[in-house]
Amino acid sequence: MAGRNGKKSFYDEAMETFHRAADLIQMNPRVRMELEEPDFEHIFYVTTELRDRLVPLSPEEAQKFKDLLPSDMKAADALEPLANGNFILHRRALLRSDIHMRQGVINIPKMGLFRIEKGGPRKFKAYRIQHNQVRGPYKGGIRYHKDVSLDLFKMLAADMTWKTAIAEIPFGGAKGGIKLDPFNYSKEEIEHITLRYIYKFKNFMGPFVDIPAPDVGTNGEIMAYMMRQFTDGEREHHKLRGVVTGKDVRIGGSEGRVRATGQGVVYCIEEWARDRGFDLKSARVIVQGFGNVGSSAAEILAGLGAKVVAVNDANGTIHDDKGIDIAALVQYVHGNKENLRRTVAGFPGAKAISKDDFWAVDADICIPAALGEEITGDVAERLKVKLVAEGANGPTTRDGDRVMMGRKIDLIPDIICNAGGVTVSYYEWLQNQRLEHWTEGDVNRRLEQAIKKNYAIIRDIARNRPQRTPHYDSRPYCVGQEVDVRTAAMVLALKRVEAHYLIEGFSQ
Ligand code: NAD
Repeated sequence: MAGRNGKKSFYDEAMETFHRAADLIQMNPRVRMELEEPDFEHIFYVTTELRDRLVPLSPEEAQKFKDLLPSDMKAADALEPLANGNFILHRRALLRSDIHMRQGVINIPKMGLFRIEKGGPRKFKAYRIQHNQVRGPYKGGIRYHKDVSLDLFKMLAADMTWKTAIAEIPFGGAKGGIKLDPFNYSKEEIEHITLRYIYKFKNFMGPFVDIPAPDVGTNGEIMAYMMRQFTDGEREHHKLRGVVTGKDVRIGGSEGRVRATGQGVVYCIEEWARDRGFDLKSARVIVQGFGNVGSSAAEILAGLGAKVVAVNDANGTIHDDKGIDIAALVQYVHGNKENLRRTVAGFPGAKAISKDDFWAVDADICIPAALGEEITGDVAERLKVKLVAEGANGPTTRDGDRVMMGRKIDLIPDIICNAGGVTVSYYEWLQNQRLEHWTEGDVNRRLEQAIKKNYAIIRDIARNRPQRTPHYDSRPYCVGQEVDVRTAAMVLALKRVEAHYLIEGFSQ
């Protein structure tokens, strides 16, 4: 695929690990061919009607309207704020109000001068890439973000095939989403866009076909819209609840799902610490991304006594050498409606630093839990940590990998490190099939066992230490030589996927 400003595509770069591991296990050539490209690439468009908006005037434009009389809005609370400074103009905001308007501009007391921008139909590009289903129904998250592409979703969908195999759950791999910045649309618009996405995709999904889940920019609320749209009008709709995972626990979601990815990251870190003889109580941690994954991992680690000393997100970076109060930060970011971008920027309990300085903060563990390609070669040169635990998907570039290896910084690769989310998604799906509801204790016990066992197998592959223990057997997976841990994780995934083709054979 064509490069990105001279760089390889996300997909081609990620597939280097695939080819390395496939060579090592001497993968059957036809199986390799099956896995090299996704089964299906769905690209489609969704349309919706946008509401009218109030758009703030620039200071120059505002000069021309400074004599405009203020409009007395009786229901100003019906203006819905968006992260880009605009407001959604719900009609009832104008009810019984005295409005003074000139050339479409109004002056709202205490808020300023705004131009009314007419709503209307709008089109968004949508994707669902179904990479592989030999081990079970397609499974993977839905991302709402302004920087998504076919290339990115192909990489993320393939990652899901590897991840579900590593987690030993009977699913395949998929990923998809919509190209938009969800913070710039109203709740109602996001609902309508989501309903339309599922309306168009309905024929290609189902609890035994393709099962979406939350990812960047989506959450349990959006999963509820998806489930409703898919099951609406179906005679046996309760049987179909497993069509999406990551739902609210009150409507068929699983206990522990919201924190599952962060919890899985921490189980991996615990296993690493046990192996290294490192005490997590004295650990200093830096976290990039304070969304679902980053904030859960930070909360759980803080609960174990570790200190989170710096956090970076899309809008700012904070630092406190004595350790940030994570409960207060979670409240500031996720429990505060006025924090429209759900950012750590402006948190009063820590000082602001630059993103550049963030990477060089003296710590033991770095958890990238934001987007891809953040740990480049340059960043890896500056890290002052012993371990990078990849909460995000694809956060480290190949250069970053090479530098980290050279500097002997340990790595827990994404396809095991963040597999907790999809593992508990499987538990949610199982509960939905059986009409059961498990406790958080039950969920976490199973999750801990699954993650630690498969992480141990990956470590054995990396160290070429085939063994059978009471908990696992790594003998079928070791390749007769030591390999780096990222390749080791891929070896485990590929051997498990390949087994299906080799034992079941190919339908002709
Ligand atoms: P989220 O939308 O809840 O949070 C994303 C966070 O990343 C936010 O804090 C945002 O500010 C930050 N961010 C975005 N762009 C950034 C940038 N350029 N620099 C710094 N920070 C930036 O998303 P999430 O669900 O927590 O997912 C985070 C990562 O974890 C993604 O790579 C996702 O694919 C991966 N992941 C998520 C899950 C899950 O269950 N949610 C499971 C496996 C992997």
